[in-house]
Amino acid sequence: MKAEIIAVGTEILLGDIVNTNAQFLSKELASIGIGVYRQEVVGDNQARLIEAIDEALKRSDIVITTGGLGPTGDDLTKETVCKYFEMELELHKESYETLLSIFKRAGKEVTESNLKQVYFPRNAKVLANPNGTAPGAIFEKNNKIIVILPGPPKEMKPMYLNHVKKFLIPMGNGIIKSEVVRVLGLGESFAAEKLKDIIDSGVNPTVAPYAKEEDVIFRITASGKDGNEALDLIKPVKEAIKEKLGIDCYAEGENTKLEEVIGDLLINKGLTISTAESCTGGMIASRLINYPGISQAFLEGAVTYSNEAKVRTLGVSQDTLKRYGAVSEETAKEMALGLSKRTGSDISIVTTGIAGPGGGTEEKPVGLVYIGVYYKGQIRVYRQVFNGNREEVRNKATITALDKVRRTILQDNIV
Ligand code: ATP
Ligand code: MG
Repeated sequence: MKAEIIAVGTEILLGDIVNTNAQFLSKELASIGIGVYRQEVVGDNQARLIEAIDEALKRSDIVITTGGLGPTGDDLTKETVCKYFEMELELHKESYETLLSIFKRAGKEVTESNLKQVYFPRNAKVLANPNGTAPGAIFEKNNKIIVILPGPPKEMKPMYLNHVKKFLIPMGNGIIKSEVVRVLGLGESFAAEKLKDIIDSGVNPTVAPYAKEEDVIFRITASGKDGNEALDLIKPVKEAIKEKLGIDCYAEGENTKLEEVIGDLLINKGLTISTAESCTGGMIASRLINYPGISQAFLEGAVTYSNEAKVRTLGVSQDTLKRYGAVSEETAKEMALGLSKRTGSDISIVTTGIAGPGGGTEEKPVGLVYIGVYYKGQIRVYRQVFNGNREEVRNKATITALDKVRRTILQDNIV
């Protein structure tokens, strides 16, 4: 079955609030195999809402509205749906009694305008609202379904999850589940090329790449008659993807963070780490310290921004700085060596670069960052040029440096 979502509210059209209800409902409907064909926003206006409902039901079987169920005159979603379906409103006793008890508990009299919230057509299925005063409802006529839900997300979401979802599941195309595999060190198109065979042959599950801010993810989506069947379909494909990607796949899961992966690695292997940062200014240390329990592994983090700090804290030689500059392979190397001597940690990671916007030259452009890694007596410096503004360069340098740490530990070698 096909569905459309209509959010009612002039506030959304004016840009005063973000239509998060549509996002929530789209995700939910997809998860039970109901395709959402359109999302629309309509102001608090009866004629335009009727037009929107009419058009939507010409294309689709189900319309879900949110908003406009409040007590005031401009809340007119229910009245509009009844007009469209030619249904008469009458007092709904159960809702009326609930409303009375809500007002009694608050020590207030029920107002005339609140009463309008408890009128429903006889053949509508009324949905209780334990988090507010406006019940929702499900209307059915001529094989078309309209579901009306309140606007506030804290009322709308439980109403959907507790009542509407159950009602819609039999109309869906099975339960849809998805899992995510996360990739670093490969761009989206390069990673997709590596998995071309799996992506091209995927029907159930399907595999799709998405470039995120920090990494690339592959979403594997399957539909089954229940959740377990869908997950069983996903599993072998996920394993095949992980095998193809090898070390470039750093994690699974919707919200897994790089620092969690590295924190686990450091602690499981009993390794210690220190940082000395110039252009990233403490961002690497901060990310590592996001991980609770990192105190076992994290020894020291310095922001050695000035040349003097690089000399005083890390023992970089004046001569190197003068001869090659602060942003150079040689300086990065001495920073890494100096840091490892200072802290004695198993891994030392350092950065020095030009984050911009100024300071770039032809030879050393904005975005040039040297990342130095010391690991068990060896040092390697990576030269990278990142695109973007100052913030983006610093972010990318941070992620790349952390990823170098991850790869070094996994391979037990400087890569
Ligand atoms: P109320 O009884 O609070 O008036 P209502 O069902 O009439 O509820 P609206 O008046 O349309 O809903 O919206 C009330 C509030 O709910 C908005 O101010 C906003 O905070 C939130 N809201 C409404 N629609 C959406 C939406 N599509 N996405 C996110 N939040 C929304
Ligand atoms: Mg309202």
